[in-house]
Order: sequence, then C-alpha cells, then structure tokens
Amino acid sequence: MPSPIQTEALIIGAGPVGLFQIFELGLLGIKAHVVDSLPAVGGQCVELYPDKPIYDIPAVPVCTGQELTDNLMQQTAPFGPTFHLKQKVTRVEKRGERDFLVETHTGLVFHAGCVILAAGMGSFVPKRIGLKSIQKYEGVNLAYKVVDPTRYYGKEVVILGGGDSALDWALELADKATVVLVHRRETFRAQPASVAKMRALCDDLKMQCLTGSITSIIEQGDRLTGVNVRGSDRVVRALDFEELLCFWGLSPKLGPIAEWGLELSGKRVQVDTEKFQTNVEGFYAVGDINVYPGKKKLILSGFHEAALAAFAAKAYLYPDEKVFLEYTTTSPKLHQRLGVEDPFKDELS
Ligand code: FAD
Repeated sequence: MPSPIQTEALIIGAGPVGLFQIFELGLLGIKAHVVDSLPAVGGQCVELYPDKPIYDIPAVPVCTGQELTDNLMQQTAPFGPTFHLKQKVTRVEKRGERDFLVETHTGLVFHAGCVILAAGMGSFVPKRIGLKSIQKYEGVNLAYKVVDPTRYYGKEVVILGGGDSALDWALELADKATVVLVHRRETFRAQPASVAKMRALCDDLKMQCLTGSITSIIEQGDRLTGVNVRGSDRVVRALDFEELLCFWGLSPKLGPIAEWGLELSGKRVQVDTEKFQTNVEGFYAVGDINVYPGKKKLILSGFHEAALAAFAAKAYLYPDEKVFLEYTTTSPKLHQRLGVEDPFKDELS
C-alpha cells in the first residue's frame, strides 16, 4: 500500500471548475492535489463537447471545450498541482479539524486539510443499448463517443439518437461518410437549426434518417454488421453498417458522493453562498454538483464559486492569518506566486 499523500487541499473533479479552483487556491498560497475518475482533465467540456464552441466565458468571445481546458491548465501551471487521473473517490471522512481522510477506488489515500468537491454531475456514464448481445462490440465498431472522427471517414455509419450529439455528428460526418441517423421518434431534442440542416441533407440524398427502434443485432462470424430496426409502420428492416455510434444521452451517477454525510437536494449538494461550504466545515462544493437558491449550472457561476470557496478554505486552514483581497495586476506577493515579473518594478526603482 502506498503511504498516504498529505495535502493542504484536495479537489475532487478536474472539470473546468475544479481546474479553476486550483488557480484560486494557488493565488492564496494553497497547494492542491486533484483527483478525477476520467483519464483526461476537462470534465464535461472534454468528455462531451471538446470541439464545440463556447460563447459565454467572460472576455473569451469563443473557444472550444478543449481550448478552455487547455487554457485553464496553462493558467494553473504556476501552482504545480498534482493530478491523479483514473481515480474515483469512494470515501471522504472528516476525522478532525483540518483533517480529512480521502480514499479512491484503487486504494490511494489522502490526508487533506480541506476538501473541495467539483464533481459536476457525479460520474456520468452513457446510456447504453439494452441488448446484452451487443455489449462485446463496444470499442470494436460500437462507440458511445467519437474519439477520432477520421476513423469514420469513407465508411457506412449508423448513428442512433435525436439529441445534439447525435445530430452534430450526423451533420459533421454527412459529407465524409455514408450516414444513416436512426431516432425512435419523429421529433428531435436537438437544436432546431441542426434538425433543419439534417432534413435538408436528407432531401438532397446526402444522408438518411429513419424513425424506429433497434430490435436485435446482425452478426457475421465475430463481427457486428448491422441492426434490425422496427419502423413506426411496425415493419422490421435490416440496416447494415461498418460503424455504429450511439448517443442516447448520459445518466449522471452520484455514486459514492451520496454516502459522505453531505446534505443533498436531489442529486446535488447543498451549500451556502458565502463560502460554498457544505454542511461539513472545511468541505466545499463548487460547480454543477452544488445547489443553492438561484443556482445556474454555468461554467462562469462555477468560477465565481471557486474564488469564494478558496477564500473560505484559506480562513479555515489558517484561522490565525488575516486574508486580504489582492489584485493580480499590482500585488508583488501574487506575482511571486504566479512566477511573473512585477510589471511596476522599473517604475518604482
Ligand atoms: P464537470 O465538467 O462535470 O466535471 C466534473 C468532474 O468530476 C468530471 O471530470 C468527473 O469525472 C469528476 N468526478 C465526478 N465524481 C467523481 C468522483 N467520485 N471521483 C473522481 N472524480 C469524479 N456551460 C456554459 O457555461 N456554457 C456553455 O456554452 C456550455 N455548453 C455546454 C454544452 C454541452 C453539450 C453540455 C453537456 C454542457 C455545457 N455547459 C456549458 C455546461 C458546462 O459544461 C458545465 O456547467 C461544466 O462542465 C461544469 O463544470 P464542473 O467542473 O462543475 O463539472
């Protein structure tokens, strides 16, 4: 067993808010370890929409989910956070003042002065096709997310779903692959503009859209080669493909978070709006995972929460220290922490 890791702050979740939390703690001189169950940082931004543009990050007119994550990583770099990826936090227990025991599913143990939960919707998993026989093809030619779009170029691709992800990928691949979109209803949850574009492409015979539900799979030898689809006319038709993509949405799984003694409201953790603290002193919750009157699940709300939680954590960890608000533009202390030159140095000398 590795010996426990000591840290002033432990952040659970490396989504955009968890990443910005590193920065806000760092400005106050607090070092953090960050744990995430996914293999990459970025949370929903990287997992669900890495290439999609985001337009409502203040002072960044447009950036993709991946770009936002890359920029946040750059911004946190001066504070040297330590990341522990592919580690799901299973246990958090307060043992005393400024003493939290945190454990992951592989047995990694942390002793943390404070804990900041930035776990988004919890660990979220794609809704899978409910046919047992199809599961062995996941990672072969069945996927629930697109890792490398070029894999699909020039192929016959069936896409399942009627939400934004299904429509976006159908539109993206329509001129690079032979695409058939299968959705169980005539109506779509996706953006109306995407639906209109998809219908126009179908009219131009550049892709196809079928209404129906999968009833069974078609295999040849050890290969998945198609599915049978029952249409709204109740006729079952065989649909061949080389690749099957399924976007039926995600189900958030709060999982172990529900067992840590936190006051919950539905699947979210209740916090105050002064410190973004849970019902456990020294245990904060920021970003999509928390709830309070007026909460909006937006990245910018999470950034604000991270700033206030950092000030609260500083006061909790160092009760005898006075904490002043300092500006990154003018504070030599913050310049030192950021590892940047003091822009006013020459003026004063
Ligand atoms: P998340 O991004 O969900 O990250 C949480 C992280 O915690 C995840 O990586 C997860 O693996 C990890 N985690 C959870 N439980 C554990 C555990 N027990 N142990 C270890 N790790 C754990 N917001 C905007 O402001 N503007 C937009 O334009 C916008 N567009 C969006 C488009 C789409 C398609 C979607 C789905 C969301 C969009 N959002 C947008 C919402 C935005 O992505 C979220 O508000 C944001 O990601 C929340 O950040 P977070 O860090 O709180 O959580």
